[in-house]
Amino acid sequence: MSFYVFNSLGKEKEEFIPVRENYVGLYTCGPTVYNYAHIGNLRTYIFEDILKKSFEYINYEVNHVMNITDVGHLQSDADTGEDKMELGAKRENKTVWEIAKYYEDAFFDDCNKLNIERPAVVCRATEHIKEMIELVQLLEKKGYTYISNGNVYFEIDKFKDYNKLANLSMEELEAGSRVEVDENKKNPLDFVLWFTNSKFKNQIMQWDSPWGRGFPGWHLECSAMSIKYLGERIDIHCGGIDHIPVHHTNEIAQSEAALGHKWVNYWMHGEFLVVDGGKMSKSSGDFLTLARLIEEGFKPLEYRFFCLQSRYRKQLMFSFDALRDAGVALKKLKSKIASIKESADGSETINANKIEAYRQKFAEQLSDDLNTPNAFTVLSDVMKDDELNSKEKIFLIEDFDNVFSLDLLKEEVAEMPVVDEKLINDLIAERNEARNKKDWAKADEIRNRLSEMNIELVDTKESVTWKIK
Ligand SMILES: [Zn+2]
Repeated sequence: MSFYVFNSLGKEKEEFIPVRENYVGLYTCGPTVYNYAHIGNLRTYIFEDILKKSFEYINYEVNHVMNITDVGHLQSDADTGEDKMELGAKRENKTVWEIAKYYEDAFFDDCNKLNIERPAVVCRATEHIKEMIELVQLLEKKGYTYISNGNVYFEIDKFKDYNKLANLSMEELEAGSRVEVDENKKNPLDFVLWFTNSKFKNQIMQWDSPWGRGFPGWHLECSAMSIKYLGERIDIHCGGIDHIPVHHTNEIAQSEAALGHKWVNYWMHGEFLVVDGGKMSKSSGDFLTLARLIEEGFKPLEYRFFCLQSRYRKQLMFSFDALRDAGVALKKLKSKIASIKESADGSETINANKIEAYRQKFAEQLSDDLNTPNAFTVLSDVMKDDELNSKEKIFLIEDFDNVFSLDLLKEEVAEMPVVDEKLINDLIAERNEARNKKDWAKADEIRNRLSEMNIELVDTKESVTWKIK
């Protein structure tokens, strides 16, 4: 089956042609572990998880590599501001190493809760300094670098097509990356490969190098580690859309300059999660975490379901109301599935042809640049299809859930009340009537009954609404 992906390089949907038959080398940029991931970051990791599982669904072997940035990432992606790890350490009065360990664990804890599978290779920048130094040496040998004020810079004017991924003019790239004037640079878009003599004299994480003691620039790690684990020709590289103008543009420049040929065939980028008109950002300090959603009474998989109901390349508007709606929809879906499961009778047999036809339809949607909303439509077609017996339906639901990863068949313990909206509305009407008649005892009795059904009434001046507790 052909798999189509939207390639940011060239900006169109293309048929995926692997470097090696039935194998995908997949590199995804991982977290900078100086703070919790926000739910906008997590949306990108959910997209990458679905990408991997979709390829696996159609029998590709996927080798997934992700980095952990634990050094070198400054506040701005373009080499200015303070080091993010040091900022975290200062904020929490811990060492940078403690900060890195703590937030890496927190990140994988979030991933577990969201059923995001751990990549086959997780590589930390601080454990690959040797590979990064070797890459800089290679670039130096090929004439792409210069040293200024002790730092090693990549000279972008030596690299043809520097802007091919972003497809922006140099002026737009400069404006986008908010480059500060740096007297050391020949071109404002040149970037640091190795810092030795920067304003970060007190940097704790430092290593010896041919250019003096220092630390790597942020972009370097992704090139060095992806080449180490996936080879010189990589099928797919992913990340958030904000990585296009600086981080991924610089990764391409240094990798292709070093290798002397095309490096990544398909670039895929997850769009922003938007809150109140703006993208969610960690550096502003005001961001939503998964822990916060849980505090608000949501389940992590409700957030996963919310994300999968729209396509990864579209901006997604987040609100608690929208998440609540997704949660209610997921509960309904699961309770319908539970009743199909109950109705299954042991004597039913599975018709392989019918199953295969649906598997094909499901795969077609995933192969269309991950059309997850349509994949859910295939799921609901399965559930409604009278030609399928319960056993066949359950088989397919379980099969699709290998990709969705929503625990669709897992029974929830005493917390899955089937919400009967009609009954609730009838009871509310009855309670309103009782209140009009000043029959407070009856009104309270109905409120208690609803409360036992896990329904909380919200009285406003105009009306009474309800929510699931
Ligand atoms: Zn990266």
